[in-house]
Amino acid sequence: MDFNDTPAEAAFRKEAHDFLSKHLEPKSGARPRGANESALARAKAWQKTKAENKFAQITWPKEWGGRGGSSMEAVIWGQEESKFDAPTGPFAIGLGMCVPTVIAFGSDAHKDRYVQKALMGEEIWCQLFSEPSAGSDVAGLKTKAVKDGDTWVINGQKVWTSGAHYSDFGILLVRTNPKVPKHKGLTMFIVNMKQPGVEVRPIHQASGGREFNEVYFTDVRIPDTDRLGAVGDGWKVALVTLMNERLAVGGSPGPDWGEIMAYAQQSGAMSDQAFREKLADWYVAAQGYKLTKFRTQTALSRGQTPGPENSIGKIITANHLQDICNSAIEMQDHYGIITETDRMPGDAIFQQSFMWAPGLRIAGGTDEILKNIIAERVLGLPQDVRVDKDLAFDEMKVG
Ligand SMILES: Cc1cc2nc3c(=O)[nH]c(=O)nc-3n(C[C@H](O)[C@H](O)[C@H](O)COP(=O)(O)OP(=O)(O)OC[C@H]3O[C@@H](n4cnc5c(N)ncnc54)[C@H](O)[C@@H]3O)c2cc1C
Repeated sequence: MDFNDTPAEAAFRKEAHDFLSKHLEPKSGARPRGANESALARAKAWQKTKAENKFAQITWPKEWGGRGGSSMEAVIWGQEESKFDAPTGPFAIGLGMCVPTVIAFGSDAHKDRYVQKALMGEEIWCQLFSEPSAGSDVAGLKTKAVKDGDTWVINGQKVWTSGAHYSDFGILLVRTNPKVPKHKGLTMFIVNMKQPGVEVRPIHQASGGREFNEVYFTDVRIPDTDRLGAVGDGWKVALVTLMNERLAVGGSPGPDWGEIMAYAQQSGAMSDQAFREKLADWYVAAQGYKLTKFRTQTALSRGQTPGPENSIGKIITANHLQDICNSAIEMQDHYGIITETDRMPGDAIFQQSFMWAPGLRIAGGTDEILKNIIAERVLGLPQDVRVDKDLAFDEMKVG
């Protein structure tokens, strides 16, 4: 594949860049994570501006307010938008994972009701999958739904739900049948996060942020018409969400080897041979990742869906982010513990990213789970042991 832009791609890149330059400042220093009220209002306004100018959801069909563009154009847009201080965070999960699931499995009435409002930044969505004893093994979840006439009654608890505290709707994976093996007794629903019985409790993070939550469901009623997919087909629906998640959580926002090299040049650390060796390792891995990403782009440009090799990116970038920030903080010696953005070089980008990096190694599949995927599905090695595969859920000893 020729990795240079075709004339049409170069023209689109210029159009995207010109639009972004008109509306946003170039990216610099640390971006505050999380979403207080003013950050949320800014994110909603940016989403609306993008949608009005057909730059929101590049590949979505025009009938849903998208651009009807190609996957390569979506890659180009992502590359250009990431150079600017674009407040995209609150919409990443909804537009990247939840609404595509609604488009794939929802009725026409669902699509009419939800898609346009999400695209215009008017409504925000969250993903309610993980539970205290169901994360990597999400099919082991316990939140249950029991049918009562035309509605389902939901009871249980979710955890680590990003953005639940400002979300209007969520996609909710629950157990509707405990008598069959765990993957077969699940069903997916759309849930209104503002209805009675939904209680959102924010989790206070070590970084100082409050980005995710525990969500409790007590006798929450969901009409059967808000089901996504057939009863018992929730795992199939969830796989579509998770496939979109792995595509969305690929890169890592934060300093890379270039930024730490620039910092090392200023601080004198380049004279340290051990540091130079680390820098060389980061550079080599970054180049390897860049070439691996070209495989994804090649698949996209041929109209194919990227395969499981896409998992490689998150393992490399998340681990590097943690390692690079750790080294930078060590270089800063005693000052390294100061996290105030106005007192540290680069707006404390190394400190801020250091606190975020461990989360990135967990979200969207932990390092170990992604290594299992690469081992099984890229390298063709034998499968992980799955002793509970054929057991009915209520016969399993679940913690
Ligand atoms: C920043 C962030 C945002 C998140 N946002 C959301 C969200 O919006 N919605 C949502 O539903 N969830 C969300 N999550 C939860 C996330 O999906 C889970 O944390 C993740 O799936 C891991 O599950 P767990 O935390 O229960 O860890 P566990 O699954 O209990 O894992 C614990 C450890 O055991 C290892 N392990 C588990 N199984 C295996 C295995 N088979 N082989 C080898 N090692 C294994 C893991 O790698 C890990 O080191 C978020 C998490 C983070 C960090």
